[in-house]
Amino acid sequence: MSPLSGRTVLITSGPTREYLDPIRFLSNRSTGRMGAALAEAARDRGARVVFVTGPAETPPPPGVEAVRVETAEEMLSAARAQAAGADLVIGVAAVTDVRPRRRAAAKVSRGDLPAALELEPTPDVVAALAASRRPGQVLVGFAAEDDRPAERARRKLAAKGLDLVVANTIAAGFGGKTNEVVLVGRDGRETPVARAPKREIAERILDAAEALLAAARTRGAA
Ligand code: C5P
Repeated sequence: MSPLSGRTVLITSGPTREYLDPIRFLSNRSTGRMGAALAEAARDRGARVVFVTGPAETPPPPGVEAVRVETAEEMLSAARAQAAGADLVIGVAAVTDVRPRRRAAAKVSRGDLPAALELEPTPDVVAALAASRRPGQVLVGFAAEDDRPAERARRKLAAKGLDLVVANTIAAGFGGKTNEVVLVGRDGRETPVARAPKREIAERILDAAEALLAAARTRGAA
């Protein structure tokens, strides 16, 4: 039986939309496929899966508890509401990094659109969840970078307080059906995973997460 059986896995997935007015937004090309693959893999290992998802290209997989959100702020509050019950948290969402400082209540007419948008950072969902983690909870994040992804992942791991960061290049994974990653652990260990369908990559990520959960439990019992 999988160590994830009967445990709760919280996954943030997909892109977010950051609105300028009720119909215009900033977003990115994330399809949500890596998140869906992780959700299916965790579900098939017997976990209860809470899937907080931005507007993705495919619907949430069957057999998971889907919570649909649009903005980073909504993703954060939905994830916070579920985090206390989670044994494993996986932040695979491509949260849009910035949002317009002002969101107009009604559609801004073409002639009134500003020449430049004033932007502000969105909340960092996974970092916020890590900051208020409960003992024994394991947190996994992603790092999609154009170059030196493993090195940047190491920095992200420390800055965000994560246990494992899945590093990929944007060319390898973003928007596609396959991925090629390096798993970067808190202990500095790097485990490359060769190019494979996202479901297979998801299995390797869950193998690593299960090992971390087992280690956390041993620490807790000591
Ligand atoms: O900082 P960067 O966006 O590269 O970090 C990527 C990781 O952080 C991913 O796990 C992503 O889901 C998470 N993240 C987040 N909220 C943000 C930005 C990133 O949860 N606002």
